[in-house]
Amino acid sequence: MQAKSLTMQASEMRKTYVKFFEERGHKMIASASLIPDNDPSVLFTTAGMHPLVPYLLGELHPMGKRLVSVQKCIRTDDIDEVGDGFHHTFFEMLGNWSLGDYFKDESIKMSYDFLTEVIGIPSEKLAVTIFEGYKQIPRDDEAYDCWKRLGFRDDQIYSFGMKENWWGPAGETGPCGPDTEIFYDTGTGFCGRGCSPACSCGKFVEIWNNVFMQYNKLSDGSFIMLGQKNVDTGMSLERILAIYNRMGSNYEIDILSPIIEKLENLTDTACSIENQRQFRIITDHMRAITFILGDYKRINPSNNGQGYILRRLIRRVIRLLKMMGLTENILPQIAEAVISINALVYPELSENQCFIHDQLDKEYALFNKTLDNGLKVAGKIISMLKSGEHLDGGEAFWLFDTYGFPLEFTEELAKESGISVDAESFKDHLLKHQELSRSNAQGLFKGGLADHSVNTARLHTATHLLNGALHRVFGEGIKQMGSNINAERLRFDFAFDRKMTVEELDMVSETVNNAIAAQITVTCVEMPAEDAVASGAIGVYERKNGEIVKVYTIEGYSKEICGGPHAKNTGELKAFKILKEESSSAGVRRIKAVIG
Ligand code: ATP
Ligand code: MG
Repeated sequence: MQAKSLTMQASEMRKTYVKFFEERGHKMIASASLIPDNDPSVLFTTAGMHPLVPYLLGELHPMGKRLVSVQKCIRTDDIDEVGDGFHHTFFEMLGNWSLGDYFKDESIKMSYDFLTEVIGIPSEKLAVTIFEGYKQIPRDDEAYDCWKRLGFRDDQIYSFGMKENWWGPAGETGPCGPDTEIFYDTGTGFCGRGCSPACSCGKFVEIWNNVFMQYNKLSDGSFIMLGQKNVDTGMSLERILAIYNRMGSNYEIDILSPIIEKLENLTDTACSIENQRQFRIITDHMRAITFILGDYKRINPSNNGQGYILRRLIRRVIRLLKMMGLTENILPQIAEAVISINALVYPELSENQCFIHDQLDKEYALFNKTLDNGLKVAGKIISMLKSGEHLDGGEAFWLFDTYGFPLEFTEELAKESGISVDAESFKDHLLKHQELSRSNAQGLFKGGLADHSVNTARLHTATHLLNGALHRVFGEGIKQMGSNINAERLRFDFAFDRKMTVEELDMVSETVNNAIAAQITVTCVEMPAEDAVASGAIGVYERKNGEIVKVYTIEGYSKEICGGPHAKNTGELKAFKILKEESSSAGVRRIKAVIG
């Protein structure tokens, strides 16, 4: 065991992790956007596996069977945990993958070696969990044997069921399997009982999850072995760094502590036991906010989808700061700290600096205007109820609709008087009001394998044709800002500062339909990212030089860097129709279209 004394910084930890796996045959891939492309099942990238979904389902990855990455992630599901030392809404996930290559033995051994030899965690400070079995699926004896061979005692190996140690499938059917989770034993039992890794008291901190995708769940509920067995792992950079540095919480590491300090300066208040939770929430949320706004996809606060999550986070920060007595807008200054800490690794943050500032100013002004009035009205409504009673969902929705109070915000206000909010009925009202798209329905914020059906592939190809047609009509300056596909339609956002004319829309539709009528074969070639760009392929955002990418070509119409999958021939699309062209945010237009 190496004794570690020097404090490590995040930049070094990222490099150390990547190098460790590169030395073991892995190829590094760049972090993808926080906003997944063409994935109707999630709003944000919640794990490193998201951008790899097609490859986990069997498509060949151009970089090979062993991959490693550091992926930006957003987890809104964990928002209530934020304030503890180890959960964030935004974090960086270190991950390594085997796409049909190594399996449990090698994966577990590599994790173990990294933690004990590189990080220097004594083996006795680790605890692991394995799958205990369920119905016809046996206990994961293979994983158990791996840990035993590495010298783990039985009292360090816990087994749990579906809830704790099973992953997937995301939908009804598809790849899934057991996982083994590795915990750091902080040594302090807070719950006073002999607790286990399943206990959330804080004694055990989960560091790393190794998922073994070995089964395919069929529609009749049965499980069969998968042809291609994959390993998907994920570990929080923030957690492993805090543990390496023997720190009590993630907020002490070098990419988080300067934000706390900046906040102390700006508020002229020292972070103490009493206000630690608020400081942490503000720090965490400002990081998430800055990274969402700083993403090249240019999400802005709104009442829908990602924009709504962003609005919730911003408004929560504003409210917390107001409760601390702040009367002016310090959000851009906190964002500045986040940008300067991270811009070297994530240059999109400094590239979008003006946008970030601008949006924070706008949202602050907007919220401020309605907040004071809203607080008075909400105060009245809440004061009419007694502690223990419920606030009607309709009233909560009215506060949302009139004053822009997110549900969680009203819940927080009501909670101060011991009142809960009827969240179900709030959601009913919201759904009715907005005719929300599928992506807003409950539960879709969780990670998962998206629907990669034939129809999705066809819509995906239509998206490329649309992008190509826009380039043809408006010139090469057109920049894609995002795209989204669900079972019914495609949606495409691009930077453009005015409404398109009827003639322009006709030209675009005609171009796409000509390509469909010409029945062109869709071809795919692999090459290094820089060669792809030199050859005129569009769609590069987060690729490293040297990274091998796929270039999909529809001769005469489109050449784009993309992960796929696609239709084999444009003729499969049958016909293309634009349903709507509208503004998505300042300087961004949105086209919705259907095929078939
Ligand atoms: P936990 O039980 O601690 O919430 P999890 O079971 O949700 O973690 P996974 O979905 O297995 O975690 O994600 C893989 C890894 O990502 C975890 O082992 C942990 O290191 C990290 N992680 C998960 N959620 C968060 C979060 N909200 N903030 C920071 N790191 C996280
Ligand atoms: Mg887990």
